[in-house]
Amino acid sequence: MAAKTRVVIVGGGVLGTMHAVEARRRGFEVVQLEREPEARGASVRNFGLVWVSGRKAGPELSLALRARELWSELGAKVPGLGFRAAGSLTLASSDTELSLLKEAADLPDAQRRGFELLDAAGVRAVNPALRGEFAGGLHCRLDAIVEPRQVLPALHGYLASDGYEWLPGREVTEIVPNAVRDHTGTWHQCDLVILCPGAAHTGIAGRYLAKSGGVRRVRLQMMQTAPLDARVTTALADGDSLRYYPAFDLPGRAALPPQPPAAERARAQLLLVQRADGGLTIGDTHEYAEPFTFDLDEDAYDHLRGRAEALLGVPLPRIQRRWAGVYSEVEPAAAQRALYHRAEVEPGAVLVTGPGGRGMTCSPAIAEETFRC
Ligand SMILES: Cc1cc2nc3c(=O)[nH]c(=O)nc-3n(C[C@H](O)[C@H](O)[C@H](O)COP(=O)(O)OP(=O)(O)OC[C@H]3O[C@@H](n4cnc5c(N)ncnc54)[C@H](O)[C@@H]3O)c2cc1C
Repeated sequence: MAAKTRVVIVGGGVLGTMHAVEARRRGFEVVQLEREPEARGASVRNFGLVWVSGRKAGPELSLALRARELWSELGAKVPGLGFRAAGSLTLASSDTELSLLKEAADLPDAQRRGFELLDAAGVRAVNPALRGEFAGGLHCRLDAIVEPRQVLPALHGYLASDGYEWLPGREVTEIVPNAVRDHTGTWHQCDLVILCPGAAHTGIAGRYLAKSGGVRRVRLQMMQTAPLDARVTTALADGDSLRYYPAFDLPGRAALPPQPPAAERARAQLLLVQRADGGLTIGDTHEYAEPFTFDLDEDAYDHLRGRAEALLGVPLPRIQRRWAGVYSEVEPAAAQRALYHRAEVEPGAVLVTGPGGRGMTCSPAIAEETFRC
């Protein structure tokens, strides 16, 4: 591609925006269109976890590690991202969970992930805010945190220059060779179109996804507390996360007892991140069958609140916000072949979506791969 290449990016979430960053890094002119006045999808509703620890060994781990490097580089250039190399602790509440963590810590790639198995005292030394009950934990030094509500505006500010145009409030409705048209009827000429519509599986990407299949949508519930008057030095996960993250698909997983019914129904795991203002972002649940429920399930929140309080050993501050979010992910059957969905859907138009629950983490590395293809 020549230096004067003009790229139109459709979608203002983290995937589209990381493609804008990568395109500008290569010296291309970029126009980015977002249908909402500002992005409001999964990219601003997530934990902001740059999560290496749970990734499957092989290509998934390599993608996450490359993304972790790129986040760290960007974090140094763009302080507004709130990037912090805080690490994480996955906490075991029973000996069964602890043995599974030990299995993970003994794997050949444990060092690449920065894993260290700690007893309860070791956990408290790393994260003194943990004053509750647990048997030990797996420290992952490579996990990191960004501030999801700040990332996109911070990156738009970083990109703002002669070669970048951010056009919010423009829904792309048509693609033809070398141009897209938005809902106002305006055409945007270009050499390359990159479509990053997130979980919008109808609309502009609909006919392509209907033909190719291979992606589904997942709905999650989240909440955020008022500021906690203690510093939670790392991100946290509870033993239920061992059921869901592929890195823990090890023999000891079969010995885990069933989850409590409310947690099993909601496919809940506790993830907890302290925000820059001291509030705690807490989640999550997983709903796969559409139509999704439109209301929020309080039983799942009760369960997550109970788990967080048991580990922190203090009552949580008042819950200030609750929300749900939806992401796009490759279907489990296709997940053996691809970590996300990328396809040239028209000559010079590439659709990229479906990174699932690792999209915030992997977005910079996915964008790098798109421009290498
Ligand atoms: C609750 C929750 C927690 C999560 N936690 C994490 C986490 O901690 N770490 C992690 O790695 N991942 C996490 N994820 C996953 C991650 O957030 C997503 O994979 C990622 O944000 C997807 O980014 P995206 O840009 O593809 O999608 P989106 O953020 O949905 O952005 C797509 C954008 O495209 C726009 N759009 C769609 N169609 C058009 C059109 N025709 N014209 C113009 N604009 C259009 C939409 O309005 C939207 O703003 C989480 C997801 C959720 C829902």
